[in-house]
Amino acid sequence: MELSERQEKIIEIVKGNGPITAEKIAGQLNLSRATLRPDLTILTMAGYLEARPRVGYFHTGKTGSELLTQQIQKYTVKEFQSVPVVVKEDNSVYDAIYALFLEDVGTLFVVDNHSCLIGVLSRKDLLRASIGKQDLNKVPVHMIMTRMPNVTVCHHDDLLIEAAQKLITKQIDGLPVIKETENGPKVIGRVTKTTVTKVFVELVNGNQI
Ligand code: ADP
Repeated sequence: MELSERQEKIIEIVKGNGPITAEKIAGQLNLSRATLRPDLTILTMAGYLEARPRVGYFHTGKTGSELLTQQIQKYTVKEFQSVPVVVKEDNSVYDAIYALFLEDVGTLFVVDNHSCLIGVLSRKDLLRASIGKQDLNKVPVHMIMTRMPNVTVCHHDDLLIEAAQKLITKQIDGLPVIKETENGPKVIGRVTKTTVTKVFVELVNGNQI
């Protein structure tokens, strides 16, 4: 978050004089309390200042990058996951390629008859299967997928940073978000490199995520 010149000044005043009331900060800046209110709200919400009723404002001592780190470490998968695209295990490689284009995704999740996750298909898996001589209409996706238990997954309540770490260490583009059921793991979402990149860009643009 980029601070305005006035917000920087407020932080300096509170640093040197805290605890200090809004009235006194306004006095030092020759502004009215009402003019200052939005800035004080922003600085308090962002974690630079702390407000104690009937006492005034304190400086928390946290730097911008500490606050940013703190904010990122709170994000969970469920806030950012997108809709998963699944294919059935008996679908052909041809159908999977078709789904990849139609749904505009890079990773497909393969499910069994109970809609439970049994594998993953990436662009390269489908390309590899396409360079042979076999009829792609006759090869079922379960023949070429990366199968369970080798699929790296994440859960609804996992931290987004943990999911991002898995994408990096496993060198893959996407993770299924799963929910355990008595029949097996159900796919309820997906987290991809695009998910993480979007968060990064929105943070820099200062948008409310
Ligand atoms: P691409 O192959 O298009 O570069 P990935 O890097 O995601 O895409 O996939 C590389 C390999 O890892 C593929 O064989 C794919 O099946 C496998 N893979 C993709 N996602 C996962 C995952 N979540 N867990 C385990 N393996 C995966």
